[in-house]
Amino acid sequence: MGAYRIGVLLGDGIGPEVVPVAQAVASEAARVCHLAVEWVQLPVGLAAYEEFGDTLPQQTVDTLRTCQGWILGPVEHHRYDPRQPGMRNPSGFLRKHFDLYANVRPARTWPGVPSRYEHVDLVVVRENTEDVYPDRNVLEGDAELRVTEDVVVSLRVVTRRACLRIARYAFTLATQRAAQRGRPARVTAVHKANVLRRGDGLFLECCREVAAQFPEVTFEDVHVDAASYFLVRDPVRYDVLVTPNLFGDILSDQAAGLVGSLGLAPSLNVGDRYAMAQAVHGSAPDIAGLGIANPAAEVLSVAMLFQWLGQQHGDTHATCAARLLEDALQATLAAGVLTPDLGGSCSTAQFAHTMQQAIQATLKAWEER
Ligand code: NAD
Repeated sequence: MGAYRIGVLLGDGIGPEVVPVAQAVASEAARVCHLAVEWVQLPVGLAAYEEFGDTLPQQTVDTLRTCQGWILGPVEHHRYDPRQPGMRNPSGFLRKHFDLYANVRPARTWPGVPSRYEHVDLVVVRENTEDVYPDRNVLEGDAELRVTEDVVVSLRVVTRRACLRIARYAFTLATQRAAQRGRPARVTAVHKANVLRRGDGLFLECCREVAAQFPEVTFEDVHVDAASYFLVRDPVRYDVLVTPNLFGDILSDQAAGLVGSLGLAPSLNVGDRYAMAQAVHGSAPDIAGLGIANPAAEVLSVAMLFQWLGQQHGDTHATCAARLLEDALQATLAAGVLTPDLGGSCSTAQFAHTMQQAIQATLKAWEER
């Protein structure tokens, strides 16, 4: 394989502050691991709307098709007006259009980072293409209807195909994590099948069907309200949580809070052919432009993308770059280089600078081992 083509879409708010940091440290990790990457800058978000009248120009979508994966920075879509032409939500559209059906959102504690718990190491596997999200669960039109001035009706879509494939993804991931960590594999299905008997009933039925094909994985299911409670009381009990779309969106932010900050919460949107690195957080308008955003979530999201490329292509250079990013990030955090969201006073630029140095130091430590 020649160079991997990786799209870079900055996004809104803090996106242009954190995405370039992730790209810079990932470039350095790729260089020292002999991983050839061609970065392809593409317009998206409010800046693209200003320039092209579209928050997701067609040229961006067409070019992404020629890439193996890409980074999507946070988009401030609360400010987008979907009634205006050219104001679609790039995040939802890209997930659906490229069939990125699994949103993988790990949350773990890091040495040196103040957090409410120790030894948390879980991952939320969120179904990414249907459920109550109106921009992705109908072919045409919008699945959230304002019927009268005072009445809104929302449609929810749950299909056997999507439930089975997200369950399979979760069980396969649990098996891999168990092998890496030397501990038993465990999957928890989170649902509300006691009330949403048909929709979540189908989701649970599919999870049970897949669980029967993975007898070595311990399987349990829990109602989403109880899951929120257990997650706060004892997050260490969880390994892989598999959820429908909305529940996973909420629980993964909650999990980020338990281990320190949204600024440390990465995610990868995975399909059969493409993957999109995307931090869990939004555009953080309250701190945009201040130079204090934490770029770690973007860095870790790119590390997940490299890891995925390594698996897809059997490419040890990509796996090396992923590991190097993680180890260098760990060293940076352990050295107390913390942005304000983690209780520190370091700027985005200082963090980036330290992490570049940590990549060299980590490499040296590897070589000396
Ligand atoms: P948010 O995630 O942007 O912010 C929540 C809180 O976390 C804020 O206090 C913010 O300062 C902090 N935070 C987030 N990322 C941080 C980082 N990297 N470093 C330090 N602190 C960080 O959530 P919100 O305020 O609900 O949403 C803002 C906008 O983002 C909205 O328009 C929303 O629609 C959009 N959004 C986009 C995505 C996405 O593109 N993936 C995800 C969630 C929200």
